[in-house]
Order: sequence, then structure tokens, then C-alpha cells
Amino acid sequence: MSSMIAESSTGQYLLRPLTLESQSRPLQELQPNDVAIASRATTLCGSDMHYFQKGRNGSIEVREPLCLGHESAGEIVAVGSAVQDRKVGDRVAIEPGVPCNDCDLCLNGRYNLCTKLRFRGSGSAWPHYQGSLQSRLVHPAKWTHKLAEELSFEEGALLEPLSVAVHACRRAAVQKGSSCTIIGAGAVGLLCAVAARYYGSTEILIADIAETRVNFALKLGVANAGYVVPTKRARDATESLALAKEMADSLGKIRCDNGATVPRSDYTFECTGVETCVQASIYATKSGGKAVLVGMGTPNHLLPLSEASAREIDIVPTWRYADCYATAAEIMLESKRGGSLPDLSQLITHRFEGLEQVPTAMWTACTTQDADGAMVVKVALNLRN
Ligand SMILES: [Zn+2]
Ligand SMILES: [Zn+2]
Repeated sequence: MSSMIAESSTGQYLLRPLTLESQSRPLQELQPNDVAIASRATTLCGSDMHYFQKGRNGSIEVREPLCLGHESAGEIVAVGSAVQDRKVGDRVAIEPGVPCNDCDLCLNGRYNLCTKLRFRGSGSAWPHYQGSLQSRLVHPAKWTHKLAEELSFEEGALLEPLSVAVHACRRAAVQKGSSCTIIGAGAVGLLCAVAARYYGSTEILIADIAETRVNFALKLGVANAGYVVPTKRARDATESLALAKEMADSLGKIRCDNGATVPRSDYTFECTGVETCVQASIYATKSGGKAVLVGMGTPNHLLPLSEASAREIDIVPTWRYADCYATAAEIMLESKRGGSLPDLSQLITHRFEGLEQVPTAMWTACTTQDADGAMVVKVALNLRN
């Protein structure tokens, strides 16, 4: 064991909504197949915000102090006795979900669905599997991914949400020359657009209720056309379906940068979880196409299933990712090299350093605009410990 390994790890723990506390805890003992990692970068995500603001994420409740953060990268400071292909000093992205490796789903490559999976920074496992907003982590070496030299720790952290996008594209089997509509221009929507481009989609439309987000997407170059969805709240089911149809119709009329329209797209990636948008994802998809559900929101939706049936639209639900980090890293490298993909490091609009900045970072990530009116997309928390 290296002498660099600290005996304890200091982190920011969520005690109750909006209340974080710095705690030092003994570091978990290094097992033969584990590595100890010094956390270097964590990017914050919507689920961190749900926990921070409400003490819960959907039905998952925080039952003991929880260290948040699951999009992360760091530097290996110690390796277990059986670890072959990692060494002290390696820079790695941390895959936050650790499955059992033993059930049918794990053995069939669908470990994201493993019922025993423990996910860092989430309240789903008991005791909670603590997240990366702490100085040190002991993690199975298997669930770390070496970072290419060109990639920063922050970009390593972004491989996590990018894996979500890669998984969505794989589940949809996105084809070369296809068209895509992305509903929701937050980080996940933007990353889905980039992943779809990587898989060869040539016409990409992006829609959001916030004009600033649509403009950001266009400026970043992730889409060929943008649409600002009028903010209207449906009062009942009929109205919601009518609004969804209207949204799909409007999307079909907007002009791409080459002057063409996409009346309906081959794939629609729904990245909001809002009922009207989920409904619109069906209306906006070409007959024989796929509506891909990426966003998490309302747990139960009313869907126009007869429309999906009559036009054979596959509804493709997605849950996290399995075996996507390598492809995500390829996309990140390509984006870095300035090829056909936009520079993804631009998604990080706000940076903080040091664990004492975690509360400020959280508050910033909870807003859509900072005090100066600049748009907040991704917030990164960097550590040098
Ligand atoms: Zn996330
Ligand atoms: Zn399993």
C-alpha cells in the first residue's frame, strides 16, 4: 500500500435538504481488487440537485448523511494487491455504478439493470454508497477508466452523463444519415445531440422552453435547428395532448441550417420527463421511428399509444448505461480534437475549487442563470487534495 493513501476522507455530507456538513470518515479498507482514488473533479447533475433541494430523488429518500456526486474523475493513490492494470498516478474516470457481476442481467451485459447495483451519491443502496464530493474514495479497479492524456479530470467527469447519451443512441440504434429531434436542451439533451452526431445523424433539431438554452445549443453547434417551445401549461389531459401535437407540428416546420425541414424525425430523444414533452416525442417521430425516453420526471404518463401503434413508433426507455465509457471517451477525444463534434468542455460554465465551495457550487447548479445573468449548464467542483 502506498504511503500517499490517507486514512480518512473528508467530504461534504447532506444532512437534510439544503444543509451540508463537512465530515471526516475513516477510509474504507482497500480490498485486493480496489484502488484508492483522490477525487479531482466532480460535475454536478440534476439528481444531485434533487437530493440537495428536497432530500430525495423521485421515490429515493436520503436516510443517513449522504455525500453527493457521481460524475467524477480522480487520481489513483493506492492499488489493491490483485490489481494488475492500474498504478499509482493513473488518472481515471470513475464509473459510479457498481453491479454484482453475477446475476443474469450482469452476465448478459445489462448491468445497469442489476438489482444489487450500488450507485455513488445515491440514496438507493443501504447503507448509502457515498459520492465523490469527498477527498478520497475506495472503488473497484474494474469500474475505473483510464483517461487519455489529452482529457482533463473535468472531461473525465463528463464521461458519466455522456455515457447516458451513448446508451440512449445505442438503444435506439441511431443510423448514419438519420434525423433526430432532441426535446430539452439541458446538459443531457446537448450530450444526446452530440452522441447522435457521432453515430452519424445528419439533421438534428433541438427544442427547449428557454431561448437561452436553445441559443447555447446552436452556438455550440450541436444542432442544425432550434425551436423555442412556448410556455403553456396544460390544465388537463386533452389540453396536454393538444399542446404536444402543436409542439410536434411546429418542430416539423422549422428550417435547418441547410434550408430543409424535418417534418418528423427518425429518432426523438425526450430529455425532460415532462408529460407534454413525452407525448410530443411520439407525435414528432416518423412512422417506423423511435421515441427514446431519457428524461426522468413524472412517474406516470398518459401517452397517445394508438398514434404509436398506428405508425409503429417504438418507445425506447433507457436507464443509465452499460459499457458506454469507452465510446464516451472516444467522443470526448474527437470533440477535443476539433473534428466534426463541438468542444464539450464548453458545457462546464461554472467552476469551483475546494470542498468548502460545495454549498456554493450546489446553489449555483440549482439555478439556470448566475448572478451576472450567465447561463448555468454544468457546474464543476475541482479538488487538489
Ligand atoms: Zn447524473
Ligand atoms: Zn447483477
